[in-house]
Order: sequence, then C-alpha cells, then structure tokens
Amino acid sequence: MDKYTQYEKLNISREVFEFGENILSGLKERFERIDETAEFNQLKVIDAMHRAKVGEACLTGTTGYGYNDIGRDALEKVYAYCFNGEDALVRPQITCGTHALALALMSNLRPGDELLSAAGKPYDTLEEVIGIRPSNGSLAEYGITYAQADLTEDGEFDFETIKAKINDRTKLVTIQRSKGYQTRRTLSVKQIGEAIKFIKSVKPDLKVMVDNCYGEFVERIEPTDLGADMIVGSLIKNPGGGLAPIGGYIVGKKECVENAAHRLTSPGLGKEVGASLGILPQFYQGLFLAPTVTASALKGAIFAANIYEKLGFSCVPNATEDRHDIIQAITFGKAEGVEAFCKGIQAASPVDSYVTPEPWPMPGYDSNVIMAAGNFVSGSSIELSADGPIKPPYAVYFQGGITWPHAKYGILNTLQKLVEEKIVVL
Ligand SMILES: *Cc1c(COP(=O)(O)O)cnc(C)c1O
Repeated sequence: MDKYTQYEKLNISREVFEFGENILSGLKERFERIDETAEFNQLKVIDAMHRAKVGEACLTGTTGYGYNDIGRDALEKVYAYCFNGEDALVRPQITCGTHALALALMSNLRPGDELLSAAGKPYDTLEEVIGIRPSNGSLAEYGITYAQADLTEDGEFDFETIKAKINDRTKLVTIQRSKGYQTRRTLSVKQIGEAIKFIKSVKPDLKVMVDNCYGEFVERIEPTDLGADMIVGSLIKNPGGGLAPIGGYIVGKKECVENAAHRLTSPGLGKEVGASLGILPQFYQGLFLAPTVTASALKGAIFAANIYEKLGFSCVPNATEDRHDIIQAITFGKAEGVEAFCKGIQAASPVDSYVTPEPWPMPGYDSNVIMAAGNFVSGSSIELSADGPIKPPYAVYFQGGITWPHAKYGILNTLQKLVEEKIVVL
C-alpha cells in the first residue's frame, strides 16, 4: 500500500507529505553517514558488554543496601569500557543531569579551590549549583570560587583568556559540549580535545570535566577519548536510549569517580552500596539501543533544519553543517510559529496526543514558555519534544525521536500546523 495512506489517516496533507519527501531525497548520503556512525557505536557498546561479561544474572536487581550487586557493578564496567574511562558511576540514585554534574563538581572540589568554566556561561541549572545565582548548598557556600572564560565571538575556545584565568587555586575546569539553550555553536569532541591539551599544558594536574549532555554517540569518539578526566550526563537523554526511566552517569579517572561515589552515598561506603532495584534491564537495553536512537534523533534534527531553512527560517545548526549534539533551534520570529510547531509535536506524540500545549509562566523563566512532549518517560528529552520561550526572537528548540519514522512524522505534523495556520505557504 502507498506510504501516504497512513499519513493521510493522521491528517497530513498530500502537499506536506510531498514537500517532506522532496527534502528527504536530498539527504540520503547524509543519513548514510549517520547510519555508519551508529554502526560504529553499536559495536562499541556490544564490545563493552562482552568485555564486562554481562550475563543473565546481571539483569536481576538488589534491594536494601545493595551489597554485591553484580548487575550494577557490571553495568558500570560497561560504561567505563564504552566511554573509555577507568571507572564509572551509573545509578538510579542520580536523579537527573544537573544532579550528576553537581555531584561530580562537589565531590572533586574542596573549600578554597576554584572552578573555571572554559566554555562561557554554563547551563542554567548549574548557575545555582555553582552559586552564580545564590542558592542553598551551592559551591559558593562551601568557599569554592568560580571563574569563567567566555568563548570567542565565533564560538571557539579563547586560549589566552583560559590561560589568564588559571591560578594556583584553580582545581577543575568544566567544559559544556552542547550549546544547551544558548545561541552559540555546539563544540565538537575534537575542539574539546584541543582545549584539554592546552589546559593541561598550562597546569598538568588540573582536572577537566565535560558536561556531555546530548552529545553521547553523536560522534565516534567522546571527550574521554581525548583526555577528559570526567564526562557527565543524564540517562533520560542519549545514553538511556529512551528506556532508562531515571539516572545519571559519571565516567572517567578512577580517583574522580571514587570521589563522586563517596559523595553520592557516604564517606566509607562509596560504590559498595546503592541497590539497583528492578531497573537494570532498562539501563542495559537502553544503552544497547542508544546509538541507533541517537541516530534517529539526529536525522530528525537534520530533516527539520532542511525543511525550515528552505521555508526561509533561520536554523541553528543550519541545514548543512556537521552535528555535535541532537538539539535543533528554529527561529520563527513570531509567537504563533513557536506555538504551532509545539502543537504539531504534541499531536504527533504516542502519549497525550489529544492535549493542547499552552504557554505558561514557568518558574525560573522571565517569559511564558510553551512545551510539547507526550512521553513514555516524563521529561525525557531523547523522546521527541520541543519547547520555546514566548519572547523575541521566538525560537523553538527541539530534540529527540526514539525512532526515525516518529521523528519524521512529528516534523511533518509541525509543518502541517504551520500551513493550516497560514504561517507558511508551500
Ligand atoms: C539537560 C542538560 C543539563 C541538565 O540536565 P537535567 O537532567 O535537565 O537536570 C545540563 N547540561 C546540559 C548541556 C543539558 O543539556
């Protein structure tokens, strides 16, 4: 049967469908390269699982203290092997990405130390962790100071400033790989590797941590392959493969991971406690699926950039440039565009498709924000999701897509809404 038949049932017009098919015909080679990266990374995960001797017994969890949890310990070996670290901490007790990052920082810094961000202003939620915005329990409250070296105007590391900001109290340098919700470009692993090399040439005993959120499996190498002491991320983004319902990871030098473990549980206990409950199958299978899931999300981001750039909207990254994370920003220039886009994503979701997203004054934001997500895992942003603040330049940020066909349909549905509301004419 004709492929369009099914789109028709979902109220995609023939015109929108064909516009999409046309765009896709020009993306074949690009998608092939993404599939090749997924293949490379799939084998990396399988090899790590072989080396860690993952067996059926690893899939059952523990309760209570969680002593001798062989599944948890083997999973941490898998992460360490896969991401080329000496050790790993991968736990459901790490509640989210911010928690994982806070944990890595707080456990590896001591009063009197200074933290340096080498890639400018960090992700919003880290401002309170660091104490840039005063907050209960911040690093600042513990006498840990903060310095920042901004990126240059074209989004490169500013080596001179980095060198000038390193002093005898500087203990740890943090680098955020993804642009997050800023307008700068995402850093490539290669760029990060060069910065690490430079930082270590200035002061060899400095630790470098990379906020790896949204970057995992987008390239064939991770920052740990190029000398990062720690990479840190969330399991409800790329490495959870859409299956992990909670969790975060820290992979890197043994000493760094050990420090984090003693902070997560308790001095004296470290990695030895922390029951995995019944969650290990989702962690293992999620990581197993993560390379192809990340590839699906990447295809979705590229498809959208090509559609909307063709229609005259500014896209970051643009339609042709290389990708280093899965986030796509599209500037519509008016609130109606952002709202119609989000409605299209929501209506295409497997869950809560009948819900209409509306802008609302979210805590912590200075304007109304609209969010679209009909997820299996609440708040999961490896699943197809979009959000945008209702303020100039009226940009929407979207990411995810567990399967490429769903990402494709979701994006076609955004276009359908924009056409119906006469914001674009095909
Ligand atoms: C998502 C994200 C975080 C924070 O993760 P949460 O799970 O939302 O707390 C930190 N840094 C970057 C770059 C992110 O994308």
